[in-house]
Amino acid sequence: MQTKLLIDGKLVQGAGRTEDVLNPSTGKVLAKVPEASRGQIDAAVKAADAAWAGWSATPPKDRATLLLKLADRIEADGEAFAKLESQNCGKPLAAALNDEIPAIADVFRYFAGACRSMTGTVAGEYLAGYTSMIRRDPIGVVASIAPWNYPLMMAAWKLGPALAAGNTVVLKPSEQTPLTALRLGGLLAELFPAGVVNIVCGRGASVGAPLTRHPKVRMISLTGDVATGGRILSQAADGIKRTHLELGGKAPVIVFDDADVESVVSGVRTFGYYNAGQDCTAACRIYAGAKVYDRLVADLSSAVGTIRTGLQTAQDVEMGPLISAGQRDRVAGFVARARKQKHIEVTTGGREGSGGGFFYEPTVIAGARQSDEIVRREVFGPVVSVTRFKDPDQAIAWANDSDYGLASSVWTQDVGKALKVAARLQYGCTWINTHFMLVSEMPHGGLKRSGYGKDLSAYALEDYTVVRHVMAKLA
Ligand code: NAD
Repeated sequence: MQTKLLIDGKLVQGAGRTEDVLNPSTGKVLAKVPEASRGQIDAAVKAADAAWAGWSATPPKDRATLLLKLADRIEADGEAFAKLESQNCGKPLAAALNDEIPAIADVFRYFAGACRSMTGTVAGEYLAGYTSMIRRDPIGVVASIAPWNYPLMMAAWKLGPALAAGNTVVLKPSEQTPLTALRLGGLLAELFPAGVVNIVCGRGASVGAPLTRHPKVRMISLTGDVATGGRILSQAADGIKRTHLELGGKAPVIVFDDADVESVVSGVRTFGYYNAGQDCTAACRIYAGAKVYDRLVADLSSAVGTIRTGLQTAQDVEMGPLISAGQRDRVAGFVARARKQKHIEVTTGGREGSGGGFFYEPTVIAGARQSDEIVRREVFGPVVSVTRFKDPDQAIAWANDSDYGLASSVWTQDVGKALKVAARLQYGCTWINTHFMLVSEMPHGGLKRSGYGKDLSAYALEDYTVVRHVMAKLA
């Protein structure tokens, strides 16, 4: 297994403390990965800095060629990547192989095309005798910090726009799930000029913090927890570095009385529990109209009770374990506290799974109120709450009454109503009669404490570039 860091085009053994990387389905050690030492972090940033002059001057078509080759190599090696990802995250192999790998390859292909076709304000004589033009230039060395829920996909979301735009990168995967990024390091070492991408492993405090504080890092991109986002902001403050933050979520799902209940149930069964609910856009906070509420709770509970949990390669498995014992205990704590409230009923699930892994049953919590912890805080596990609302204004007010602002959905057969509600929701994305669907051409990112960085789409290229004005006196 590839456990070496990528620094200046070479795969090197980490010289810091060793991290046990687990298989969450069994709780057993899958690999031992040494962290980067302070000297290696410094070497990675210096290599990225040294590579920047050449890479930023590389024409977009040549950057695109390498990104397209990378996409091809990931696809060709898709089974091995998917196997590693599923072992390290506990997710079903079929989901990693059939959902994630094609989406990851597509991200690199999208940015390969997008960097060749950026648009903007036209050059012109906005003052007589002077020509002005706008440039969009790369920023410099980007420190990219990824979470554990979709390790390779998050690496792709960060590397795609950063490299396409002409930046160089030092990527730090999560200490819990570094394996696919390290395997990717092998491909990057073959394909890209030395130093353009570097990969260092380790924990937030020992590797992430010194990396982001390095004076030669010009931009920090984080996908992670809100609290980590706060720490990144203070780490960025001294150097006045650009930040790109994609933080947590608590997606409201507004179900009107006229919604097609079957499709709501099927949608929430899928999009509330995909990746064991460890998804910042998970459909986890349902607001149901008074007339549809009882049927929705009953049908959803029955449907969720049929979700097949198990090992990564088990027949027809739909849901794996949580990432760690700590995450499972955290989820169990939310459910235990909710269960203590008299108005709440746990209609399915609500228990830890058996065996050595970190399993938790897919759970539905009915009767939740707007003020309940289970409605307000991000659980990041297979738990969906259902709350009854009396009119659309109340549903919209409750949906917006959240620290988070990443994703939301509206379910109704009245498209006009859906569009009116969508316009009033304070979320980076609102889906209508669906949830969770992403495409490389459209932005993904939040408002409020969910952060402000946009991943995917031309907006990500904007985030990873600076706008510059060049003005020439004509005579
Ligand atoms: P986390 O914040 O604990 O860790 C994320 C990354 O930050 C890890 O690589 C970690 O080592 C690093 N880190 C921690 N402290 C740091 C520091 N001081 N300096 C630099 N790096 C540091 O998050 P997690 O537990 O890995 O992931 C779960 C969280 O991520 C959830 O809150 C989830 O909502 C969020 N998330 C958001 C999105 C999105 O697109 N908005 C996507 C996936 C996950």
